Amino acid sequence: MPLPSEVEKAAKSGSEYELYKALLLNFGKRGDKAFEYLRDRRVKKYRDFFVVVGKEEYIVEGNFCTCPDFLVNLKGKSPCAHIIAVEVAKITGNYDRVDAYYVDYPDDILKKKK
Ligand SMILES: [Zn+2]
Repeated sequence: MPLPSEVEKAAKSGSEYELYKALLLNFGKRGDKAFEYLRDRRVKKYRDFFVVVGKEEYIVEGNFCTCPDFLVNLKGKSPCAHIIAVEVAKITGNYDRVDAYYVDYPDDILKKKK
C-alpha cells in the first residue's frame, strides 16, 4: 500500500516531528499509533514477514495485516497502524531484524489470528 507522498517525504526527512505531523494529518489515530510503534521499535523484520508487536503480534505482508482493525473495520481497503508503521520503517530503517522464520510456529499464528 503506497504511502501518501507527504508521509514518504517526512519519513525521508529524518525529522520525528515532521513524520508525526504527516502521519497524524493523513491517518488520524492510526497514524498516531503507527508513530508509537516506530518510536518504541516494535516493528520486527523476520526472514519471511514483518511483524508488529502491539497488544498481540500481527503479521504484515505488503497490503495485508492480520489484525482485526484491518480485517473488520477497514475491510482490507486502507492501511491499519501496523501497515503504516511497516511502510515507514522500510524507509527509515527503524526496525529490528530477527534472523528466524516467523512461520516456524504455525500454532502460535493460528491462535493469534482468532
Ligand atoms: Zn494491522
